[in-house]
Amino acid sequence: MRLGIISALYEEQQGLVEAMQGPYKLIHGQREYWVGKLFEIDAVCVLSRIGKVAAAMTATTLVEKFGVTHILFTGVAGAGDKTVQVGDIVVAESLVQHDMDASPLFPRFEVPLTGLSHFPADHRLGTRLADAAQAFLDRDFEEAIDAREKTVFGLVQPRIHRGLVASGDQFVNDASHINSLNDALPGLVAVEMEGAAVAQVCYELGVPCGVVRTISDNANENAATDFMRFVKSVAARYAFHIVRRFCLQADKVSSEG
Ligand code: SAH
Repeated sequence: MRLGIISALYEEQQGLVEAMQGPYKLIHGQREYWVGKLFEIDAVCVLSRIGKVAAAMTATTLVEKFGVTHILFTGVAGAGDKTVQVGDIVVAESLVQHDMDASPLFPRFEVPLTGLSHFPADHRLGTRLADAAQAFLDRDFEEAIDAREKTVFGLVQPRIHRGLVASGDQFVNDASHINSLNDALPGLVAVEMEGAAVAQVCYELGVPCGVVRTISDNANENAATDFMRFVKSVAARYAFHIVRRFCLQADKVSSEG
């Protein structure tokens, strides 16, 4: 396994790069790719920056230039449903580009000439991510997240959701917009700006991918309030520990054959 790990925001990636053993940096296409061992796994960590094109470019490069066999995307997202709360963790089962609309030539959301609107995430990677997220909540959450931040963001008993993630080149911060996306996309759990682009690239190149997101906001008018504080003090810790547990678990599985 050679694991590509993509983060959209610098704060989310920083801790992972610091945890790498003997990392070296390669610059390609105006991005820094960090190659090394991460918790015993052969890994490449990279910052995609924000949006679908940035994410697609990064995923393609990871596969074509760095030879990764699996891709993980870690980041934050807005809640896509009333049952999903700030501080919860979402693992994608499938992903859709919510701003794709070539109707009436093609059905709304369908990526023209692929016949698909929903691109799958790899089920086994998703299960490992959900297991890693559960281990994080059970064993690390208490100590890893500062008590003050728990109070500020109302993190009481975070939960894990598996379902549909919708991506688009928009920061959704409007209650009527998120409600209409929820109506149009059954099973929606989160909205963000990269995952579905990575899923399409991985589908087309035949590489399994997993997307895990910490819910940072409710995709409504308050979405931008305290966004960077949440990323720094909460989501970056979530991503670090979930990836750590994922790698330790994956290492155990692969050494067991
Ligand atoms: N304010 C930030 C902008 C972040 S854009 C800045 O100035 O840098 C939002 C990032 O978080 C994207 O990577 C996206 O995937 C994710 N995200 C979190 N909440 C979102 C929402 N409500 N709508 C869309 N993307 C969201």
